[in-house]
This record gives sequence, structure tokens and C-alpha cells, in this order.
Amino acid sequence: MATITEVRERTANGNRGGEATGNGNGKDGEASTYSGKEHKWARPAATRENSAMLVGAYTPYIVLLAFTLVFHETPFAERFYTHLNAHYTCFQISFYGSLIVTTGVYWLLGFIFMAFDLVDPLHNWIKRWKVQPDVRPTLAMYREVFTLVVRNLVCVNVPVAFVTSVVNPFRVDVPLPRAWETLWTFFLTLAFEEVGFYCVHRTFHSKRFYASVHKTHHKFTAPVAFSGTYATVIEHFFSNLFPVMLPFYLTNAHFSCAMCFFCSLLMDTTITHSGYNVPYLINALKHDWHHYAFTENFGPIGFMDKIMGTNTRYNAWLGELKRRDVDGWLATGRLELAEKTQ
Ligand SMILES: [Zn+2]
Ligand SMILES: [Zn+2]
Repeated sequence: MATITEVRERTANGNRGGEATGNGNGKDGEASTYSGKEHKWARPAATRENSAMLVGAYTPYIVLLAFTLVFHETPFAERFYTHLNAHYTCFQISFYGSLIVTTGVYWLLGFIFMAFDLVDPLHNWIKRWKVQPDVRPTLAMYREVFTLVVRNLVCVNVPVAFVTSVVNPFRVDVPLPRAWETLWTFFLTLAFEEVGFYCVHRTFHSKRFYASVHKTHHKFTAPVAFSGTYATVIEHFFSNLFPVMLPFYLTNAHFSCAMCFFCSLLMDTTITHSGYNVPYLINALKHDWHHYAFTENFGPIGFMDKIMGTNTRYNAWLGELKRRDVDGWLATGRLELAEKTQ
């Protein structure tokens, strides 16, 4: 068996400049199959279970869409919108309704993850899925996040909801959408969101805009759920709101379709910033990697990153982790084990 000193020497020889070295079967001295940087990110296999499942990470979207489709077919939905139209104007439903639904969902989900971060018994239960286990968020961090989250809610969300509700309110005075219309609106908006957010986000990473517009959002390399809207006013409007408001404006969407999509968007942004990749919740790895590694995974879904080739190091590291799960860890990992057990 190799001594700690021998393992340390092998690591040093094959790990110059922070580059990992190793082999596919855990034996010493063979050629490396991974030449990228060594990361502590997502090392526990449990943090990657959710992304490895075929449909697991899409479960929240499927549940939400199924609920909306079924809801639209019920007599209750018909009575509900008849009641709203009898008592409120289109502007009131569009403005107050969208703010109540979106703010309620965002803060409810945010507080749930905040509790998992700050309350010990809850954290002990969920920490097996913490993508960056070394970083545990604190109350002070949340206080700082809240300053910009509340500022953006008041200074961006409210004015945007007001203007859009005056100019082109979500439709409530028409029959409830049929299934095809709900699905078409959802996936069209999703496409706009994927392309629009990717382009705006990547532009904000350019030298011209990064320091003044986007650096704030990257303050936390291990984000928390609420930090999805921890951003400058310019970024919050152009990156978070504009790409999804545009298709609704173009399609004259029904209020119910808009709320379905906004709820999915808010689930996405809170979960992907939560720091936890919990099975059957939305895949949090992609965006957590963006905050950790900074230069990849610009899009919300991943199609644009695949097309543009902005996920290669991410895929390489995930592939390496998968290989290590099967074949054993590299010299670096064995060194840590040796140090623990000496
Ligand atoms: Zn970014
Ligand atoms: Zn982010």
C-alpha cells in the first residue's frame, strides 16, 4: 500500500497548476482521461442523482402544466373567472393578480429554502443534496440579498406590471384556453426565455457590461434561492423580465396561461439558485455551475449552451465525477482519504 508521502508525491507530479490527473480504473501510473481543473463542486454522488434521472428534474414542470390543463377544464375555473370579471376590471386582475401570484410563489419558495439553510434539523436532512457542501448560507447573507430583492420588486416588478397591465393586460374576458393553446403559449414562451435570456446574459458577461451590470449577481459563488433576483435594475429588467414579457405581449395570452408560465419560471429561478439539487425538483446543477465557474451555462434550460458550446468544462467535470463514482477517486481524493485515516 502506498504511503501518504508517496501518494502526495504522485499528486504533486500529476497535478501541476491545479490540473487534475488520474486514470480510469484507479490504478496508479496510467494516462489521465481528464485534463481539466480539479473542483470540489458536486463531488457527493447524491448531488447528481436528480440530473441523472430521465424525467426527475422535469417533474415540477409536468405537475404544474398538468394542474393548469385540468384546472381549465373544471366548472370551478369557469365560475372563478366569471366572478373575477364581474367584480374587477382587466387592468385590476392583470396588475394586482400577477403581482400577488408571482410575489407569493417567489417568497414562499424562497422562505422554504431559507429555512433549510438556517434551521439545523432541516439542513441536516437536506445537506446530502448541497452542491457546494463547504458553503452554508448565513442570516447575514440573506439580509444582504433581501435589500436588492425588495428593491427590484418595488422598482422594477411593480412598474413593469403596471405599464403592461395598462398597455396590454393579460386576457381574462375571453373563454378559458383549450389544452393546445395552453401548451403552445407555454412552450413558445419557454423558447423566447431560453434564447432571450441566453443572449442578454452572455452580453452582460462581456467586458463592456459585466462590471456595471452583472457583477452584482455574481457576488455569491454559492447562491441561495432568493439571489435569483439579487441583481442591478438594468439586469433584472432586461435579463429576467423582458425575455418572458415579450411573447406574452405578442400572443395576447390568457391570464391563466401567463400565471402558469410565471410560476414555472419562479420555481426554476428559486430552485436553480437554492444550492440544492434535490431529486424530482428542477435541475440546480447547471446554474450553480455558472455561479461557481462563471464562464459557462448562460441559458436557463441548456439548449443554447449546447448549440453554442458553452458547457464543455461543465460536461467534462460531470463526466469525470461519474467515472470516479464507478472507478474510484483520483490521487487527490485518495490523498484526502489517506490524511483522514492516518
Ligand atoms: Zn452570469
Ligand atoms: Zn444566477
